[in-house]
Amino acid sequence: MRKKIVAGNWKMNKTPKQAVELVNSLKDKINTSAVDVVVCPTFVCLQAVLEAVKGTNIAVGAQNMYFEENGAYTGEISPEMLTSMGVKYVIIGHSERRQYFAETNETVNKKTLKAIEHKLIPIVCVGESLAEREQGITIDLVRLQTKIALKDVNKEDAKNVVIAYEPIWAIGTGKTATNEQAEEVCKAIRDVVSEIYDVETGDAVRVQYGGSVNAGNANALFNMGNIDGGLVGGASLKEEFASIVNY
Ligand code: PEP
Repeated sequence: MRKKIVAGNWKMNKTPKQAVELVNSLKDKINTSAVDVVVCPTFVCLQAVLEAVKGTNIAVGAQNMYFEENGAYTGEISPEMLTSMGVKYVIIGHSERRQYFAETNETVNKKTLKAIEHKLIPIVCVGESLAEREQGITIDLVRLQTKIALKDVNKEDAKNVVIAYEPIWAIGTGKTATNEQAEEVCKAIRDVVSEIYDVETGDAVRVQYGGSVNAGNANALFNMGNIDGGLVGGASLKEEFASIVNY
């Protein structure tokens, strides 16, 4: 039985003080341990949020990392910097990073491998644009993104990878994929993992849906057979996130 996982991607929002206020407001309202809960603040808020979640079952993730160990990479953050602080998860290849920061399937693969090497759990984002959906290539595209992200990842490590299916047209737009659309693609992702490794691995991997998840639609989405929780943007910046976790 896969444990659901709900992660909040705070994007470029909140100062350290505001981040602590937000996480403190969530702590009392999250009343389940049946779900893995992750918040992903900006790098500059990680320390403060890590302190604030001590003693709770809220884990902390980063929104990105670089795939080298250290060196002349101005502005980048290494996996060891994250693990040394107590960060457990890292979002990799979010569509905003692909769109604005030139991330490719290949850099996503390098980051996924490096995160695993450092025992960070990667939340690998895949998903199609509206034009790609209209062209009918959604499944082909997410299969390709998933295959490349997992290149050279061994079977045991693959079981711990979280894959977030995030249709780009649903991110921050208020347009949610229907339960059936989200389920179809999340199943296709699980199937491709089964093809690469085996059914046991496909059954183990957790596939989230992301794209305008809110307190009103979380329950129906998360109850679909192949959706193991959500990656939440806008609604994770509010106390509503607790209701999504308690879906
Ligand atoms: C996201 O950015 O990962 C996301 C899903 O955003 P939103 O929930 O705001 O659509």
